[in-house]
Amino acid sequence: MKFFRNRGKGRKRGKRYDISYYCADAAMTALAGRRALTGNAETETVVIGGGLAGLSVALSLAERDRNVIVLEKNRIGWGASGRNGGMVSIGFSAFYDAIIRKVGIAHTQKLYGLANEGMARIRSRIRDYRIDCPVVDGVLETSWYEDPVEMKGYVDILNRHCGTKAEYWSPEKVRRHYETECYHDAAFIPEGFHINPLQYLHGVANAVELKGGRVYEGTDVIEIIRSPGGGHFTVRTPCGNVSARRVVIACGAYIEPGLNEDVSASNIPIRGYMMVTEPLSRGVMESAIRAPYAVYDNRHVPSYFRTLADGRILWGGKGGFFRDPADIEAMLTEDMLSVFPQLEGVRAEKAWAGSYGMATHAMPQIGELEPGLWYSAGHGCHGLATTAMAGELIARALVDNDIAWRAFSPYGLTSTGGTLGKIGAMLVYNSYMVRDRIAV
Ligand SMILES: Cc1cc2nc3c(=O)[nH]c(=O)nc-3n(C[C@H](O)[C@H](O)[C@H](O)COP(=O)(O)OP(=O)(O)OC[C@H]3O[C@@H](n4cnc5c(N)ncnc54)[C@H](O)[C@@H]3O)c2cc1C
Repeated sequence: MKFFRNRGKGRKRGKRYDISYYCADAAMTALAGRRALTGNAETETVVIGGGLAGLSVALSLAERDRNVIVLEKNRIGWGASGRNGGMVSIGFSAFYDAIIRKVGIAHTQKLYGLANEGMARIRSRIRDYRIDCPVVDGVLETSWYEDPVEMKGYVDILNRHCGTKAEYWSPEKVRRHYETECYHDAAFIPEGFHINPLQYLHGVANAVELKGGRVYEGTDVIEIIRSPGGGHFTVRTPCGNVSARRVVIACGAYIEPGLNEDVSASNIPIRGYMMVTEPLSRGVMESAIRAPYAVYDNRHVPSYFRTLADGRILWGGKGGFFRDPADIEAMLTEDMLSVFPQLEGVRAEKAWAGSYGMATHAMPQIGELEPGLWYSAGHGCHGLATTAMAGELIARALVDNDIAWRAFSPYGLTSTGGTLGKIGAMLVYNSYMVRDRIAV
C-alpha cells in the first residue's frame, strides 16, 4: 500500500514513503506532502537534505529569524531519520575510551556536554512546539559478557566525565525486568529516552515553516555552484535554482559523489535493519519484557529493542554494507528469539532497512569546506541527539560566528579509501560479528 500520494504541485515524487512502521501510523498518513521547488528562489541559507541533520540546522536558523530553505530529494524523513530505532542516548558511535585516547578527558567532557545539549534540545522542542510525540524515559545498556568490574567502571566514567546520573544494575535487577540469560549486568541511563522519530521529524519541519522557513520535497539537488567572485552559491535542481549566501550539505548516507566529492568520500553507508512485531498480549510481553525502557547490548554489533504503546516490540540489529538479506523479518525474528526464546510464535508485521552514514572515526562530522559551504554528516547510530546538536552548532556559527563547532575539528572529513576502503570496513565489521559470537 502507498501511504503518501504526491499531493503537491511540481515534479512527481518517485519513491515510496511507506518505508517503515512509522509511516503506517495514522497521524503520519494524514500528513500531506510538501511541494517541490519550481522556478528560482533566493534565501540566506539553503540546506540540502530533509533528514534530521538538515531540518535541525534549518530550525536553529529559523529560531534566529534567518531565512532558510530546505531541499529534500524524496520526502522529509525518507532516509535514516524516518527509519531508525527512535532511541535517544548519550554520546556517539565512537566508543568513549577511543575518544578519550584521541582528545583527552577534558575535551571528551566537552564533546559529551554538547551531545547532552542535543538530547535536551529534542525534549525542549517536543515540549515548546507541542510536537505530538510521546517521550518514554530511560535507556538500558546491558552487558552481553560477565564482567561486573567493566560495567561498574563504565558507569563511573559516564557519571564522572559524560554528565549522566547513570545507575549500575546488578544481574538480578536486570533479570527482574528482562527475562533472558543473555544479559548480565547493565548501565541504566535516566537521561536517555525513546520516541517515534518520524513524528518528531515532522514536528521539527512544521516548526521550521512556522518560523518562516521553506521546506521543499521531491527536489533533487544536482549541483552546487559557487559564484565566480565568491559571496554566493547557486544550488541547481531539475525545476529551479536557489541562490544563497550559504549552503549546508546534510544528505546522510545517501549523498552522491557528484554533489560533493569530499563529503561523499568520507561516508561509509552502513545498512541497519528493523522490524516490529504484532501486538503482544500482556502475559506474553511480561514473560520476557517487564519495563518500558529502550535497551541495547554492548556487543560490537548490538541488538536493540523497545516496546511500543500498542504492545508491539520494535527490534533492530545486525547490519551490513552491500546487499540486504533476502528475509529481514526472518533474520530479526531469529535474533529476537536468541535473546527471548519464550517469544517463539510472535509474528513480525513489518521489517525494513535503512542506511546511516559513518566516518572512519565514527564521530559526527561538522564543519566548513570553504567559506559559506558547510556540512553536517557522519551521525552514525547516535544521530537523533547529534543531529540536534550539530544543527545548533552550525546555526550559532553562521549567525554569531560562534566557534563551539570546532570541538569536532579533530574529527573532520576522512577518506574511507574508496571501494577498497569500504570492503576493508566491511571485513572489519564482519570480524566484529564473529568476535561477538565467539565471546558469548
Ligand atoms: C535502521 C536504523 C536504526 C537507527 N537507530 C537509531 C537510534 O535508535 N538512535 C539514533 O540516535 N540513531 C539511530 N540511527 C541513526 C540515525 O537515524 C541517523 O544518524 C540520522 O537519522 C542521520 O540523519 P541525516 O539527516 O544525516 O540523514 P538522513 O535521515 O538519511 O537524511 C538525508 C536526506 O538527504 C536527502 N538527500 C540526499 N541527497 C540529496 C540531494 N542531492 N538533494 C536533496 N536531498 C538529498 C535524502 O533523501 C535524505 O532524506 C539509525 C539508523 C538506521 C538506518
